[in-house]
Amino acid sequence: MSFDRENLESVLKRRFFYAPAFDLYGGVSGLYDYGPPGCALQANIVDLWRKHFVLEEDMLEVDCTMLTPYEVLKTSGHVDKFADWMCRDPATGEIFRVDHLVEEVLESRLKGDKEARGLAAEPDKSEEKKRKKKVKEIKAVKLDDETVAEIESVLAQIDGYSGPQLGELMKKYNITNPATGGPLSEPLEFNLMFETAIGPSGQLKGYLRPETAQGQFLNFNKLLESNNQKMPFASASIGKSFRNEISPRSGLLRVREFLMAEIEHFVDPLDKSHPRFVEVADTKLRLLNKNTQQEGRTDIDEMTIGEAVKAGVVDNETLGYFLARIYLFLIRIGIKPDRLRFRQHMSNEMAHYAADCWDAELQTSYGWIECVGCADRSAYDLTVHSNRTNEKLVVRQTRETPLVTEDYEVELDKKKFGPKFKKDGKKIETYLTSRSQDELESLAAELDEKLKITVTVEGVDAPVEVEKELISISRKKKLDHIREFTPNVIEPSFGIGRILYSLMEHSFYIRPGSESRAVLSFPPLVAPTKVLLVPISNDEKFGPFLRQISAALRRVGISSKVDDSSATIGRRYARNDELGTPFGITVDFDTLADKSITLRERDSTKQVRGSIEEVVKAVQSMVAVEPVSWEEGTANLTPFTSEAEE
Ligand code: AMP
Repeated sequence: MSFDRENLESVLKRRFFYAPAFDLYGGVSGLYDYGPPGCALQANIVDLWRKHFVLEEDMLEVDCTMLTPYEVLKTSGHVDKFADWMCRDPATGEIFRVDHLVEEVLESRLKGDKEARGLAAEPDKSEEKKRKKKVKEIKAVKLDDETVAEIESVLAQIDGYSGPQLGELMKKYNITNPATGGPLSEPLEFNLMFETAIGPSGQLKGYLRPETAQGQFLNFNKLLESNNQKMPFASASIGKSFRNEISPRSGLLRVREFLMAEIEHFVDPLDKSHPRFVEVADTKLRLLNKNTQQEGRTDIDEMTIGEAVKAGVVDNETLGYFLARIYLFLIRIGIKPDRLRFRQHMSNEMAHYAADCWDAELQTSYGWIECVGCADRSAYDLTVHSNRTNEKLVVRQTRETPLVTEDYEVELDKKKFGPKFKKDGKKIETYLTSRSQDELESLAAELDEKLKITVTVEGVDAPVEVEKELISISRKKKLDHIREFTPNVIEPSFGIGRILYSLMEHSFYIRPGSESRAVLSFPPLVAPTKVLLVPISNDEKFGPFLRQISAALRRVGISSKVDDSSATIGRRYARNDELGTPFGITVDFDTLADKSITLRERDSTKQVRGSIEEVVKAVQSMVAVEPVSWEEGTANLTPFTSEAEE
């Protein structure tokens, strides 16, 4: 059955996973509030993120401020470059994000072409409804083969175009306002940061941070110190970031305030191997590399991360290690492996300082969406902040064997040098001691040959002659015991809201044979509530059992909810299927007799029966961080059938 986004959205709204913020006041696009199940789902994803990354890798978690002074973001490059391209319809005042507009219009032309050729796939129901309402652009118009190939190639490279290039594409394909057909302005750059003033004077300009990374870089020295100067190490941070998106229209996927979880892994630029790479080397990933995209295609190469690093498709082991760890995390929370790919940034798309960059993209009804960025940012950030503040942000390491260098050095006989050159002495000395190694080499040869050197010094009238008894220029051996370097940074950057929404799409299905019964099949580990407790009727005698079961679940840290409403058991299960609750426990009249209870699994609707202790133990094993399957978890319990699903 095709995915119906409107159906999912109505479940999410009905169960208050999330809702537009300030809707009593008409709402503001790109701002959402999470309700109880959305909040619990987010908390569980974040909790697992902490366990999977921070705990597993001994990362140093920090919590830095969101308000950031102008100077910091000027230095990082955000003030000048953190921008998207927009264009305006002068007639209606509408504003479009140019790359998205070009992409949408060209995609809809390809769809129109398919329809005209009778090749259109089964239409997505929500697309269909929308089309009936307002989208005018999709028309069944046949394009010639050359144009189709050209458009496919443009779409494969859509993330790599600059503003002026997008402007050219708009002209070439005659892209206008899709709703009215009216002409649009040239692309204009729009900075995505929210500007503010810190303090009452208005003098200290600031921004709401667009990422959590800068706080981590600025604390680098303290973090290195906390880690006893040991390298490599990683810091991590979870917190809100803000981006004034041009026209946010894709629900939770493009918002103006969102939760980010970011890791900055600091590594020696000369050694980007990773000690735990072997543990993930056999993990198979679906890769879309930059060359394929630049050739105008989007074919996937499936290979292990070990092979990808060896073949140089992924730049280094540490970057490869994180790609595999990101994959394992996403699968663990319930993302479907065949709807996850890693897309490499094309050369013109990547920040100039980045060595390599891959996005984990998840397939949704909005297309392939970047949900985790993973970039090798080289030494860029630490270097620019260090240059701006004159504070060294480096690692100092004692060399195992000292580095031996032999350099030319100038030595002056100060007792004779001063009296000879008098007021010009300082200038001549500065000139001689600041020569390059090459210059010193030729001066040393001149001194050997002529027993004097002749130099021209700025600010001294005549050429200066310095005799051999005043100066020596010779090679001196030096032992360097300390190596000083600026670490490189590998940065996995997660947008929690995007992951959460994609997970909801990947988990959503309609129970076969029953159109009105929707299910969100979250893995137990992240499900908002783990267990639904249902008494078969609201007979008071069930009260003590319900209290006993929920206390037993609470004792082992498992959340449960009692539903003692008068709806049929089937209805109550259906309601909780929509909330993604993986297990249901039923208390019935047999419970009163033999204290046994029924346990139901959401997706298979299988049921088993056992004592309270047995059932709680089974649930505990199935919601654990390393969960067991239903078959394993309930092997000791008795299979049970009832009519409760009706
Ligand atoms: P970036 O720094 O642009 O690579 O973004 C890092 C991550 O933040 C992305 O992979 C997304 O998951 C998330 N993200 C970026 N912009 C938004 C947005 N407007 N709404 C929601 N998530 C976002």
